Amino acid sequence: MPPLYAGLEAGGTKFVCVVGAGPDDVRVQARIPTTTPEATLREALDFFREQRAPQGPLTAAGVASFGPVDLDPSSPTYGFITSTPKPGWARTDVVGPVRQALGVPVRFDTDVNAAALAEGRWGAAQGLDGFLYLTVGTGIGGGGLVNGKLMHGLIHPEMGHVRIPHDHVADPFPGSCPFHGDCLEGLASGPAMQARWGRPAESLPDDHPGWALEARYLALALNNFVCTLSPRRIILGGGVMERLTLFPLIHRELRALLNGYVQAPQVSSHVDRYVVPPAFGARAGIMGALALAQEQGASKTEA
Ligand code: ZN
Repeated sequence: MPPLYAGLEAGGTKFVCVVGAGPDDVRVQARIPTTTPEATLREALDFFREQRAPQGPLTAAGVASFGPVDLDPSSPTYGFITSTPKPGWARTDVVGPVRQALGVPVRFDTDVNAAALAEGRWGAAQGLDGFLYLTVGTGIGGGGLVNGKLMHGLIHPEMGHVRIPHDHVADPFPGSCPFHGDCLEGLASGPAMQARWGRPAESLPDDHPGWALEARYLALALNNFVCTLSPRRIILGGGVMERLTLFPLIHRELRALLNGYVQAPQVSSHVDRYVVPPAFGARAGIMGALALAQEQGASKTEA
């Protein structure tokens, strides 16, 4: 029997829980709406506890969380969601209750770093030691691998909150980020599109000017990420990116912005293979949680 893992994707609108051995061997899954921290965590942990009898013992757990989160193992608030504007969720311990309830080692990371780990191991970035994963949905976040390691630092990357040029004449929308107004997330997240156009992004037709503007903003940010981090590929997931007609618009904008300066065929000739959707689609985050758990399980075996 292969070792079994618990994967928990803690999202702003739902928690997804799985028990499985890998992406092709998911035994059971549950979706729990995100309400209060107490109720949501209790329901998720009850689910995992109930699986132990039918499924067998769990080796490790992986938690892929919305953020910002504390990833410093020496910090008293390690494993916490920290300064989120989501009501009730600031300073919430996520790892502690999972460890306590399941009695297994827990690996914790951002939802985007976790999704990157899954895409690197099994998906759209296999074999690449440096690439980015960005989600464009309710919020915008980015993570990835640099020199084969998940991106951690002072805290973790917050690529959704970079500043990009904003032409207030062409786009008078002031931006929706409660911290920065017109940062990337404030201009280009799903809620920003909805606030700007007065209807949900998914209801805008393909030829709506909102998509060209969205592609412009995302390409401006990608231009900065290409120039600062030199990723070998960029994966764009999240609800907004389910509109696949956005990809060719972004490809064209990004090539125009880079203007031949970055001398790599991936950008000049094959940009359609350079900026790509996730192989796991909307499952990238939960597969990431499973990948984190596997890593934790492997490190336990080595130790
Ligand atoms: Zn912001």
